[in-house]
Amino acid sequence: MSDPRPLEGRRALVTGASRGIGRATAMAFAKAGAAVAVAYSAHPESAEAVVTALRNDHGATAIALGADLADPSAAAGLVEQTVQALGGIDIVVNNAGITRDNLAMRLADDDWDAVIAIDLTAAFHICRAALRPMLRQRFGRIVNVSSIAGVIGNAGQSNYSAAKAGLIGLTKSLAREVASRDITVNAVAPGFIETDMTTTLADAVQASAIAAIPKGRMGTADEVASAITFLVLPESGYITGHVLHVDGGLAA
Ligand code: NAP
Repeated sequence: MSDPRPLEGRRALVTGASRGIGRATAMAFAKAGAAVAVAYSAHPESAEAVVTALRNDHGATAIALGADLADPSAAAGLVEQTVQALGGIDIVVNNAGITRDNLAMRLADDDWDAVIAIDLTAAFHICRAALRPMLRQRFGRIVNVSSIAGVIGNAGQSNYSAAKAGLIGLTKSLAREVASRDITVNAVAPGFIETDMTTTLADAVQASAIAAIPKGRMGTADEVASAITFLVLPESGYITGHVLHVDGGLAA
């Protein structure tokens, strides 16, 4: 029988873990035995509810850490706080993300800057800070949550697509830099997943997005969390620099 708690003893930081894909990932990690730092920005009560669920449902060590990832120093601070609270850091999931959609012709500078800062630059700052202890301990697992929009583009999302494509470049370059120290760096590229990010879109927008998906439905946060968990399992140690699509065939 396979090990029911393959992440026992591992310490994970998951950003954007108060809701959606990040929450599902934190739950999957705790179920697999990991201690989890649940990072959030604006919803401390949601993050605390996740921490309570991790402790009660899975007996996990869990803490909530607040940081606005628009601030570069806050990003590095999250890694420091995780190391202090959990005694180290083995796994990082850069999942926090925002959208500020508009056609490029109408896109405001602030909306470009905010999306690049939170969806791309913060991930770089967190990776750089986490690599220090990971290189020292000669072990680490990093997963960056990109998007199908970063693979095939999306009209109305030039800022988001640029950030998510940038994350893929970051993932592949870092993977090459640190592979020899048993640190893997991978990305997942979700398609259209049922979370606050998508369920707030107009019904007509949702319907036309679903019509383009070969599987004929939106994905769930749990389905993305399964892919992320797979990439951090001990037996996935030879997979690095990979972009795993979780999109119901959207980019097939
Ligand atoms: P979501 O439900 O909107 O949750 C976003 C998360 O990011 C929340 O935990 C939020 O924290 C956090 N966050 C937002 N702004 C932040 C900031 N300035 N600093 C720190 N944290 C911040 O999103 P989701 O749908 O689960 O998406 C998670 C990731 O998957 C994102 O990177 C997204 O781009 C990517 N993705 C999603 C889809 C999809 O269809 N849903 C598809 C492809 C890729 P608070 O709760 O505290 O605000």
